Amino acid sequence: MRRGRIEEVLRKRWSGLALVVEEVKNPHNISAILRTADAAGVQNIFIVDPLGEGLAVNETISTGAEKWLTIRTYYSAKLCFNDLRDMGYRIAATALRDDAVSIYDYDFTRRVAIVLGNEKNGVRSSTIKMSDDIIKIPMRGMVQSLNVSVSAGIILFEAIRQRTASGVEDPLSEEEIKNLIERLK
Ligand code: SAM
Repeated sequence: MRRGRIEEVLRKRWSGLALVVEEVKNPHNISAILRTADAAGVQNIFIVDPLGEGLAVNETISTGAEKWLTIRTYYSAKLCFNDLRDMGYRIAATALRDDAVSIYDYDFTRRVAIVLGNEKNGVRSSTIKMSDDIIKIPMRGMVQSLNVSVSAGIILFEAIRQRTASGVEDPLSEEEIKNLIERLK
């Protein structure tokens, strides 16, 4: 891909929006999450993979989005959160709990990492305890939860809506852009 096009895309990425994906197992889901992150302008993806299973991506679904992203993998949420806090992120775990804040009332204009959880068990309770905030997409139906990749899309695009409406300027650093261009060109 042309260097100019890569730079143009990187300059639209959000520095202060990150995704943490904890133990999402289904390749279709992880692939759809990565594709959505790229489309939403989220560069930094943090994978929590305690069993060391690796990132199983289905390229038909991801359409190769993983190539353009910065993906870091951790064996524990604790180590991942240490890095996130060093990078200045607030951490918002998703969970369908009564005390969770609706994403429509949550302030995504701040520097925030959104934690998505396992298809069956959700975000681990120990991970939720380490997070700063708990957020949810309000549900109106008979089923209890959404698919995790659908949730990623809804949350990220609500975050972008808020940031755009507030005129948030939040580009990647020049150094990060330079390094990414070197890797991607
Ligand atoms: N039984 C699990 C639970 O109670 O968390 C359901 C997990 S859900 C199928 C998988 C992931 O999708 C969750 O960990 C969360 O990241 C995301 N998710 C699903 N529905 C959501 C909602 N309404 N609000 C926020 N995140 C949601």
